[in-house]
Amino acid sequence: MKNPGIFPTLIGNERIRDILGRDILSGRAGHAFILEGPPGSGKHTAALAAAAAFSCTGDTDERFPCGRCAVCRKIREGVSPDVYFVRRDKDHATVGVDAIRTLREDLWSAPNENTKKIYCIEEAEKLTPSAQNALLLSLEEPPPYAVFFLLTTDSSALLETVRSRAPIFRMQSFTAPEVAEYLCAESRFAALERSDPEWFAEACAACGGALGEAKRLLARSSSDGARYHALRQDAVRAVSLLFRTDSAECAQLLLSLPKEREAVLTLLSLMMLALRDLAVRKKCPDLPVQFSFAEGQNTPAGGVGLTRITAAFRRVFSAYDRIRANAGIFPTMTDLFLHTHESKGMAGVR
Ligand SMILES: [Zn+2]
Repeated sequence: MKNPGIFPTLIGNERIRDILGRDILSGRAGHAFILEGPPGSGKHTAALAAAAAFSCTGDTDERFPCGRCAVCRKIREGVSPDVYFVRRDKDHATVGVDAIRTLREDLWSAPNENTKKIYCIEEAEKLTPSAQNALLLSLEEPPPYAVFFLLTTDSSALLETVRSRAPIFRMQSFTAPEVAEYLCAESRFAALERSDPEWFAEACAACGGALGEAKRLLARSSSDGARYHALRQDAVRAVSLLFRTDSAECAQLLLSLPKEREAVLTLLSLMMLALRDLAVRKKCPDLPVQFSFAEGQNTPAGGVGLTRITAAFRRVFSAYDRIRANAGIFPTMTDLFLHTHESKGMAGVR
């Protein structure tokens, strides 16, 4: 049964509405949850909807949470004193134990206004092991009013002991036509589809099934859109270079890399999407993909096995992580391409 009335701000994600929403409504919900999904997949929206649901004081016959009471309003506007965020410091690659100690100091003071106090831990995959162990103490014996949401792109990065304390809810990812349909329900995106249909279609295809990511892409101007289109083509070229030796083309690619960190990160995330598509084409050819590798045009799809695709994905992911944590762009990218070549034929070696 669909629940349009439960978590009305959340699109799709029937499982989260059905299980988490109903459990909160009936007072059976636990006190810790892991929300897993790529950036822009709605983890925040889901956590905030649940936070409001836990303490909503309005009329919830038709909408849960009501969206109108003071609790709902303050949470939506980001001014609730009972919603606490743990965020990574921009200058740090990880979230250390100090952040969790600060949380634990707050934990034992009762809620200010609401029935529950909500602790949202962003990028939980970046918690250091000692931070996770410190958090574990709170997850094991929390005060009755505390509820934890661990937001993560990768729950496997969490310690088993943490994972065993909280059910994992994976955010739904959408197909490109679904993304387009949901976006067009908002007039500003419907207008964009009419005024710039190519860029609109491109963003819907390139967002990796994450609505928030599609919105983020479409917030760019059309000229940014053209640059993005070029980056997508670079990503296809770069991915094919991961699987064959062409020093001249490699050198050319390295020299033509964008200078801005943000653009390189976009290039790397597009490469990950393209690699994922290659794997999908291998294993589930009936599923939709977002990147087309034209047959015969240096296409790696035919001759490359899943193990090598996975190994390449790991390397691209690691390069992304390092560059995001301020590593040098040129040395990291050089390392990415050279080492991938060295491990050619050693499928599965990281
Ligand atoms: Zn409410």
